[in-house]
Amino acid sequence: MHFDYSPKTQSLLDRLNQFMNEHIYPVEQEYINAVHNNSDRWSTPSMMESLKEKAKAAGLWNLFLPEEYLPYGAGLTNLEYAPLCEAMGRVLWSSEVFNCSAPDTGNMEVLSKYGSDAHKKQWLEPLLNGEIRSAFAMTEPAVASSDATNIETAIVRDGDEYVINGRKWYTSGAMNTNCKIMVVMGKTDPSADRHRQQSQILVPMDTAGVTVVRPMQAMGYYDEPVGHAEVVFDNVRVPAANLLVGEGEGFAIAQGRLGPGRIHHCMRLIGCAQRALDLACERVEQRVAFGQPLSKQQSVRESIAQMHCDIEQARLLTLKAADKMDRYGNKVARDIIAAIKIVAPNMACKVIDQAIQMHGAAGTSQDFTLSATYAYARTIKLADGPDQVHMMQLGRNLIKDHVGQRANG
Ligand SMILES: Cc1cc2nc3c(=O)[nH]c(=O)nc-3n(C[C@H](O)[C@H](O)[C@H](O)COP(=O)(O)OP(=O)(O)OC[C@H]3O[C@@H](n4cnc5c(N)ncnc54)[C@H](O)[C@@H]3O)c2cc1C
Repeated sequence: MHFDYSPKTQSLLDRLNQFMNEHIYPVEQEYINAVHNNSDRWSTPSMMESLKEKAKAAGLWNLFLPEEYLPYGAGLTNLEYAPLCEAMGRVLWSSEVFNCSAPDTGNMEVLSKYGSDAHKKQWLEPLLNGEIRSAFAMTEPAVASSDATNIETAIVRDGDEYVINGRKWYTSGAMNTNCKIMVVMGKTDPSADRHRQQSQILVPMDTAGVTVVRPMQAMGYYDEPVGHAEVVFDNVRVPAANLLVGEGEGFAIAQGRLGPGRIHHCMRLIGCAQRALDLACERVEQRVAFGQPLSKQQSVRESIAQMHCDIEQARLLTLKAADKMDRYGNKVARDIIAAIKIVAPNMACKVIDQAIQMHGAAGTSQDFTLSATYAYARTIKLADGPDQVHMMQLGRNLIKDHVGQRANG
């Protein structure tokens, strides 16, 4: 076992870091100002388009799609992608520049894997080109959605169409004016076996009966221009061909998308935490209290050391999970994916919280990215499955393994 990045990864990482230094950090705040000064806060500022063109030209595009999805994507392994995703995670909005942002990445994987040729032509190609954005609508306000079998939205066959009725919320991306397509999870057969009741269906945003009711806040942030929407589906009719794979496949598709989606959030969170540590190191050198820079206080040094240890532990676990996914597949790697999905958001919350503390009031202000980054990290303890659900499943599997009873698969 060795811990060096491969020459291919190192070369991409060098290019990505150079791109971040030249094109992202210098305009980090300008982009946030552009979002807030836009006449429509849900429309992406035009500077994003020019950054995307530069990233494409630099060969830093669709890095997230592994080899099995070729000819789509860059064909990197999860292990190769991990440090790149981490680097993008250092600036909250930068993943979109490289067409590597959630929920589009998960939706592109789903469309590549489960979409028909027509779906790929109509939705996957513009997504891969970064021309449109997308959303994934599973969570519902009326039911405990951490248990996906609770989902109530009805998807009912009527001739050559499906009719959809239900209410979703926290549909990330659906507020954005460039979001053109939603992958919607609902029930086609409530009487079927518990995990065969659900299906996933493609619903264009402009379909009659789709109403975006309101943007939801996450920890007080609206996360413009992407947003998290509450969406009502009132007798929404789409062609039957919009159903992905077939009736009853929705739960299996959801499980498939969540593995990579979860680890990508962890990779980004390691970037968030590392950036917070870097900012903290800078700040404590500059700030003088009680006659000396904060960096000379022993408790500050201990905190900095602990932050480093926490990040490094999570980074190594993430790399191990990525490697296991590459070598044995997402299903076999599910325990270690659950482990890192528990570890990384908690680590990031702790590290960013300490960085905020070292910044004093400034850490909570709009002049630093720390509070928005903390809010993001905190929400990932919920999104893509709350910690408790991952712990319940991981604990169950570990106990079964211990007594040799784990069911195959
Ligand atoms: C910023 C943000 C973005 C999101 N984006 C999306 C999106 O794009 N699409 C989408 O569909 N959803 C999205 N979500 C929703 C997210 O996936 C859900 O919030 C999550 O699955 C939990 O569902 P719930 O909110 O209904 O919580 P509930 O199911 O009501 O659960 C509440 C709490 O109960 C506890 N709990 C649940 N099960 C157990 C258990 N077995 N043991 C012990 N405790 C338990 C947990 O602490 C959990 O947080 C997003 C959420 C946030 C905050």
